[in-house]
Amino acid sequence: MLEVKDLSISFIQYQKGLKKRTLKVISNLDVTINSGEILAIVGSSGSGKSLLAHAVLGVLPKNAVVSGEIIYKGMPLTPKLQKRLRGNEISLIPQSVNFLDPLMKVGAQVQASVNTGDKKEEQKSIFKRYSLDEKTGIKFPFQLSGGMARRVLFASAVIGGAKLIIADEPTPGLHPEVVKETLQHLRELADQGCAVMLITHDIGTAINVADNIAVFYSGTTVEVAPASNFSGNGEHLKHPYTKALWNALP
Ligand code: ADP
Ligand code: MG
Repeated sequence: MLEVKDLSISFIQYQKGLKKRTLKVISNLDVTINSGEILAIVGSSGSGKSLLAHAVLGVLPKNAVVSGEIIYKGMPLTPKLQKRLRGNEISLIPQSVNFLDPLMKVGAQVQASVNTGDKKEEQKSIFKRYSLDEKTGIKFPFQLSGGMARRVLFASAVIGGAKLIIADEPTPGLHPEVVKETLQHLRELADQGCAVMLITHDIGTAINVADNIAVFYSGTTVEVAPASNFSGNGEHLKHPYTKALWNALP
């Protein structure tokens, strides 16, 4: 479904009185996600996880210089295609329910997350799927419980017919039950044939829910392995950083 090949991202920085400089933040990165599969992207803060997500979504800032290939269903993801697919086939589950607009009713927000067309009928069935009753649509975000608000984020992400879902740190700071529910929802989407990119700094979460794990270190993947390799004494793991993550598990 998604193939990222030899991706590099740099930022051009201008500072008053200084020469322009280029800061490379992602180098020669490769990842692949098949349909029906969760790939966890694991790495410390600042290792480039969100930038990968933004590159796939086509929402990098203007001063980013990108090279390499991002292929979706065999097609190069051009800015035009990204614009068309974003919010429809390619969706984001954000980190926080703060991404909901506090001044807009939930139903209108879910509709607005779709790129094209009226999705009133889809909204009904999707609300049902995420156990949101019909009245949720006429509520404002502050009237929702934390769990409901997270389910609204899922409804917004899938209403356009998502095939590739990117969840960027979707669980930090949540109540354990809501974490479990969120991860279950991601698993369900994969089981229904979506390709899921789960960005997390928590190797434990990755091991629990992902099929494959890509370990990021300083802007590139140092190891990509099936989650099953993260078992036993970790003897199947190759890179020192991956081993360090493994050894840091409680
Ligand atoms: P994370 O793995 O925590 O999600 P990010 O992908 O957000 O990391 O960021 C990776 C690196 O890129 C960080 O060092 C960050 O400072 C840098 N970076 C992100 N956005 C910009 C930008 N617009 N200009 C310059 N550097 C940036
Ligand atoms: Mg991030």
